[in-house]
Amino acid sequence: MDHIVIIGNGISGVTLARHIRKLSDKKITIISAESDYFFSRTALMYVYMGHMKFEHTQPYENWFWKKNSIDLVNGFVEKVETDAKKLVLKDGSSISYDKLVIATGSKPNKFGWSGQDLNGVQGLYSKQDLELLEKNAPNNKVCNRAVIVGGGLIGIEMAEMLRSREIPVTFLVREKSFWNGVLPAGESAMINEHILEHHIDLQLDTNLEKIISDDNGRAKAVVTDKGETIECNVVGLTAGVTPNIDFLKDSGIELGRGVKVNRFLETNVKDVFAIGDCAEQHEGIGSRRPIEAVWYTGRMMGEALAQTLCNKPRKYAPGHWFNSAKFLDVEYQTYGWVFSERSKKDNEQHFHWRHPSEKICITVAFDKDNHQFLGLNTFGIRMRHEIFDQWLTENRDIDHVMTYLRDANFDPEFYKLYEEEIVAKYNADFNKNIIPKKKSWKRIFSIA
Ligand SMILES: Cc1cc2nc3c(=O)[nH]c(=O)nc-3n(C[C@H](O)[C@H](O)[C@H](O)COP(=O)(O)OP(=O)(O)OC[C@H]3O[C@@H](n4cnc5c(N)ncnc54)[C@H](O)[C@@H]3O)c2cc1C
Repeated sequence: MDHIVIIGNGISGVTLARHIRKLSDKKITIISAESDYFFSRTALMYVYMGHMKFEHTQPYENWFWKKNSIDLVNGFVEKVETDAKKLVLKDGSSISYDKLVIATGSKPNKFGWSGQDLNGVQGLYSKQDLELLEKNAPNNKVCNRAVIVGGGLIGIEMAEMLRSREIPVTFLVREKSFWNGVLPAGESAMINEHILEHHIDLQLDTNLEKIISDDNGRAKAVVTDKGETIECNVVGLTAGVTPNIDFLKDSGIELGRGVKVNRFLETNVKDVFAIGDCAEQHEGIGSRRPIEAVWYTGRMMGEALAQTLCNKPRKYAPGHWFNSAKFLDVEYQTYGWVFSERSKKDNEQHFHWRHPSEKICITVAFDKDNHQFLGLNTFGIRMRHEIFDQWLTENRDIDHVMTYLRDANFDPEFYKLYEEEIVAKYNADFNKNIIPKKKSWKRIFSIA
């Protein structure tokens, strides 16, 4: 019987194990250095904010693994010997495999800043990071101010976490406007305002120069490239993540920024595969990046590889891009491709509507030549995934999207709806005369 060994018990490794078990009785071992049991990384912030206990982030009961004959090993893999098909762990023990899957996720970026390894300087990725933050910043008496470096999704989460305990936060963002490498200008500007309204000291167009130590090797201030010194007790490094693959350096497995894989998630070495944040496609699929550090793509890779390992070869084929996140209390969803000004394609045109007073907006991208719908971003309005997926597959044009926009709205009943205003602005901007159709459950159920 094949022994499948998975390094990493995150969403990708665990999805793979569950699906292999559904399909076969192969021997499965999952190794992780982080936690005994799988937990939801995306929920870590809610533990610090007091909305849930750490146990509540574990989707499966502890007995689940034994009942499903999935062996769990708590240990750190230091070396992979592909010729001998053997792993060497930090405690000196070794584990043999028939098939090896690398699902080791990411680690926070550190760019060689002076002081980056001082006490009080930390990332936000792991369970250990959460525990460290609890020590470093239990309240605003121990932590008078935190400085967060790097304006992405994890940075804003960390700011929200610290603000929930009324800890003053300075947020250093290299870009001239928040996340404007990803978001179109109107949306990015709205999030700038939202951050400031939450009493976060957002400093745009500002880089970290160095972190200054006190006499005990603890961070006591940062210096920015604007020459400002900001006193603080905690420095959060949230300037992106990189695949967690240092231990593979001498393994013979082809590495780029991540572990190089083909569409079947195979590496250059027979019987060795990689999935999740640490996997790097030789070429990105469509407009996707070669490394996709998001939750659902890790899950999809796990599902696809389980089929392959159970003799039903299946390519990783993620379909239309979508994602969702939260900027403080504003929900964000994206379907298809809506590029920022920086990465916009020549043929891409945007329609943008923003509510006059609230943090609600929508941007629709379409082809300026044939008006084909390319993608949509919404903030503060919930949309139905299946409908946009279908419209993208059917190559609908933007007039169709505007006409049937009410079908796509997923906000709970009695929420105020904005399709009327959105379509009126579209008509005015593009000299059209679209009359939005009433929501039809028949149409919605025919898609869902
Ligand atoms: C704070 C935060 C919030 C996020 N929010 C979102 C969100 O809202 N939406 C979204 O799509 N994505 C979000 N993400 C990203 C998402 O969590 C990741 O894409 C996903 O968890 C990656 O899963 P994975 O299985 O590839 O790796 P991971 O979850 O990183 O799991 C890998 C595991 O392998 C272990 N490991 C690594 N090396 C070794 C080794 N040598 N030996 C043994 N064990 C090892 C690691 O310790 C880790 O436990 C968030 C990430 C963070 C940090």
